[in-house]
Amino acid sequence: LIQKGSGLQVVVGLGGSGLSAARYLCQEGYRVAVTDGHPAPPLASQLPEGIHTRCFGGIDADLLLQAARVVISPGISLETPAVRAAIDQGIPVVSDIQLFCDACRAPIVAITGSNAKSTVTTLVGQMAADAGINVGVGGNIGIPALELLGNEDMALAVLELSSFQLETVSNLNAQVACVLNMSPDHLDRHGDMLSYHQAKHRVFQGAKSVVVNRDDALTRPLIADNVPRLSIGTQAPDAGQYGLVIDADGQTHIARGTTRLISADELPIKGQHNLLNAEAALALGELAGIEIDSMLETLRQFEGLPHRCQYIASVDGIDYFNDSKGTNIGSTMAAIVGLGAVYAPKDGKLLVILGGQGKGQEFDELAPLINQYVSQVLCIGEDAAVIEQHLRRAQLGHDVEVHQCHDLARAFECIERVTKSSLSQVQAVLLSPACASFDQFSGYAARGDAFIDLVQALAD
Ligand code: ADP
Repeated sequence: LIQKGSGLQVVVGLGGSGLSAARYLCQEGYRVAVTDGHPAPPLASQLPEGIHTRCFGGIDADLLLQAARVVISPGISLETPAVRAAIDQGIPVVSDIQLFCDACRAPIVAITGSNAKSTVTTLVGQMAADAGINVGVGGNIGIPALELLGNEDMALAVLELSSFQLETVSNLNAQVACVLNMSPDHLDRHGDMLSYHQAKHRVFQGAKSVVVNRDDALTRPLIADNVPRLSIGTQAPDAGQYGLVIDADGQTHIARGTTRLISADELPIKGQHNLLNAEAALALGELAGIEIDSMLETLRQFEGLPHRCQYIASVDGIDYFNDSKGTNIGSTMAAIVGLGAVYAPKDGKLLVILGGQGKGQEFDELAPLINQYVSQVLCIGEDAAVIEQHLRRAQLGHDVEVHQCHDLARAFECIERVTKSSLSQVQAVLLSPACASFDQFSGYAARGDAFIDLVQALAD
């Protein structure tokens, strides 16, 4: 452990979490320096007065070599030369999450995965709050984790954690930890699936209990068998586990063992992936000691988050859904299956808008689901051509049409053309790009808002 005051703490990257780390370390009496590649980081004006050194306009390699410890922001790669040089010198490099878990006295619910993190984190936080628990929710979502420490009466911390926040964390010691699911994402930074997997699984270090997804073997932790665990899945559950029970008439219930807890119809959030998310929240909540009836009541109220399979409007008989947060293949697959299953019995097909920055993903995997549920694919953004090429080499069905549209505005011109045709089977339009948005937007929320505006314009 580093003695306070004994050595310089260098915060690398001045975003929200970097600012929270600098504030926290100053408050704890450390000597603190901050460095960022931007010449004038917007948050610099909010730094506390006691900061020892500020180096902006480049990550200062010499400064890092003087550090007793480096606190790195999730947006900065460990392979940045200055950071790599510090690691090679044996200087500890940690994330704000390490500082948080070293200081936090409340039990921690730690949630990671390729998709559904924000949905499940919000849901568990809401379940705890509704049950009267003084809960703090943060991490990769909303408030940086260290800011939660300001609430001295916090009785439970619910953290959403990204692979970037986890790759420098050891011994998180969560009360309950979970990798919700694993699909390829961020391979442009993690290099390969193995290092991505290793980063995510650090969430289990020191965990007192775990939640496992039976449908996804990559979520299973390598930890001792005697650590309490609950599992979730889409199949009927064994005794004491969570799963789905489907009756002969098609009615689906979330069940714990043989006990039906709640029917799918009672949940405002739709699609099978959301039932799995509800199970995950129940299992995490159970292991965190939240009362079950109260959690079920929260599920009856929870409307979901914007930009995640969000219903926008129906125009000329066609339903429009904004899943702009679908930024990787795994999330887009969940959205296509989730909505496809709703429209397929009515002989409807989906029109799906894909594209943006592909982050090195292979889009072939989408082809079978597209063949099953989609009649029109509209490609936008930087990797539009790559996506079409991958889909075609993966044997796209002859009745699936692919259109190159460049951007959302042109995609909507195409939608008007396609849906006017009497041959169109399209009953729903889904923006679920499977890509990052930064080539054309400031983020997924701006992309989703642009989609909503275009839908409104169609309706007017
Ligand atoms: P994250 O915080 O991990 O990005 P979100 O809750 O914001 O997760 O959801 C991101 C996307 O993942 C959404 O667009 C949603 O359609 C999709 N998604 C939600 N739940 C699941 C799931 N259980 N499996 C796969 N994809 C999912």
